[in-house]
Parts: sequence; structure tokens; C-alpha cells
Amino acid sequence: MNLFDLKGKVAVVTGGNGGIGLGMARGIASLGATIVIAGRNEAKAEEALATLRGMGAQAGFVAGDVTHKATCEALIASAEKQFGRVDILVNNAGTSIRKPPQDFSEAEWHHVLDTNLTSAFFCSQAAYPAMLRQGGGKMINIGSMMSLFGAPFATAYAASKGGIVQMTRAMATAWAKDNIQVNAVLPGWIDTDLTKRAREQVDGLHASVETRTPQGRWGTPDDMAGIGAFLASKASDFVTGTAIPVDGGFSISM
Ligand code: NDP
Repeated sequence: MNLFDLKGKVAVVTGGNGGIGLGMARGIASLGATIVIAGRNEAKAEEALATLRGMGAQAGFVAGDVTHKATCEALIASAEKQFGRVDILVNNAGTSIRKPPQDFSEAEWHHVLDTNLTSAFFCSQAAYPAMLRQGGGKMINIGSMMSLFGAPFATAYAASKGGIVQMTRAMATAWAKDNIQVNAVLPGWIDTDLTKRAREQVDGLHASVETRTPQGRWGTPDDMAGIGAFLASKASDFVTGTAIPVDGGFSISM
């Protein structure tokens, strides 16, 4: 029995054209899966495709804004059309707007919630029938340390990431009977475009993360590859509804 073999499987990764999404895609591709990345920035996607193909993986890109239900449906349909099936979905697309709660406009609130939470709901809904056709599947939702903690600049982001954990639990219970495992990953502080902006906007963030993280460093997208591979593979078949921190110990440290 090979617990870590994904040859013949197809994984869709939203926001897989960079950062954590590409780290996860690399982990899943390393076990033999075909990867379909979704995002808006085609130039970034071309680089990501070159990286994945350079590893020997089959890979495709679908352009679109996953805050729209129709885009999520088109994404899954396109993955099935190009590669015949969808077995794995990583709901990773995300964004943040950092400001105190009293300063959020209605549009800003909806932008963060739609990007981080509603897109994951729509893409999961779209992937469900495709996974049923394969007799099961794996969904991996990206939460955050803000699924666990609060911060004065992160009201909309924290609401969306808390929602990711509860949505994961609810979907895991709904779809366990269909052999679909739904789990969340809670990354610690990872060096990506998103957190480059955070470090510019939040004074002292870089050093405070290093100090508080027991492993004494920021994570890298490659640190997300292993958990992606585990949750996408047979090795996690009896794991569902969890929210797993991958954070160098940040969440268990004072
Ligand atoms: P990046 O900004 O590097 O990646 C975000 C990705 O999401 C991009 O590839 C972007 O692609 C995609 N994306 C954003 N909005 C949309 C949209 N509307 N439609 C389609 N794709 C979209 O940041 P990270 O890699 O850091 O973030 C990835 C996930 O990890 C997010 O959910 C984030 O909240 C989460 N996270 C990050 C942490 C960190 O420390 N970095 C910690 C905890 C969680 P494009 O620009 O092409 O649309």
C-alpha cells in the first residue's frame, strides 16, 4: 500500500499561482497529481506553471475571479474537461485589508469576506458533484492564525478565517458519507506577497513574529508542501473536519 501516491489524480488550487498556494501545489504535484491553478494574474501563473512542469508535473491554468460562483463552476468544469476529473480542491485564494474595524467600508468588508470565505464555499459546492463522480475527494481550506487569534487591524480577515474553520467542520460532517474529507490548514506567518504588504503596514511585525515563533523564523511557501501532500493523499483518509496549524509553534507559544 502506497499512502502517498497521487498519480492519476487531479488537484485544483485557487491562488495556486504564487505564495502558499504554489507551495501546496508543489507538495501535491510531488506525489504525481496533475495541478490546475486558478487566479487572475496570468504572468504569475505562467511562472508557476513552469515551476510545476519543471518538476515533471502536468499542469494547467484557469483565469478568473473566484469570488463569483459562476467562475468557480467554470473552473471545475474546465479542470474536468482538460484532465478528465477533479479529486482534490485547495481553497487558498485570499486577501487582507488592514485597518481598525470602525474604518471598514461596506465594500471592503465584502471584498475580504468574498475572497477568503465565500469563494471557498462556491468552489467547494462546484467541486462536490465532480468528487462524487470519482467516489470521493479531498478539500483543503486555508485558514490562518487569525482563525484562532484576534488583531486590531484584522476584523474582516479574522471573521473570514474563523468562518473557514466552521465551514470546514460543517462540510466535513455533510460529505463524510460521500468519502470526501474536508480539512483546514492554519498557516503561521509565511513569507509571501501578502505578508510583505503586512510587514510594510504593521510596525514591528517582522521581529515580533520571529520572537514569538518557537522555531524562530518566518515560514516559507515550501513549508506548506508537506501538509498539502498529506491532506490530499490516502494517508489522511480518516482525518476530516480538522484545523491543523502549520506555524513553527506560533499558536502554542506565549
Ligand atoms: P499571496 O498574495 O501570495 O496569494 C494569494 C493568492 O490568491 C494569489 O495567488 C492570488 O492570485 C489569489 N487570489 C486573490 N484573490 C483572488 C480572486 N478574487 N480570485 C482568484 N484568485 C485570487 O498570499 P499568500 O500565499 O500569503 O496567501 C494564500 C492564502 O494563505 C490566503 O488565503 C491567505 O489568507 C492565507 N494565509 C497566509 C498567511 C501568510 O502568512 N502568508 C498566513 C495564514 C494564511 P491572483 O493575484 O492571480 O488573483
